[in-house]
Amino acid sequence: MAAKCPLCGKPAAERFKPFCSKRCADLDLNQWFKGGYAIPGPPVDPTPSNPSENDPDED
Ligand SMILES: [Zn+2]
Repeated sequence: MAAKCPLCGKPAAERFKPFCSKRCADLDLNQWFKGGYAIPGPPVDPTPSNPSENDPDED
């Protein structure tokens, strides 16, 4: 039973399992690497708005 490269679907090579070649292995690694580093942080609001904290319309 031959495993298939998860990237391109070609038969995986023993040497680069589960990929078919170094190219695919590198590609996958790259994506993983990028994904690990490009962490989308939460949107930072530079202008904090607390309307209830400083409400001029108090009784
Ligand atoms: Zn491949």
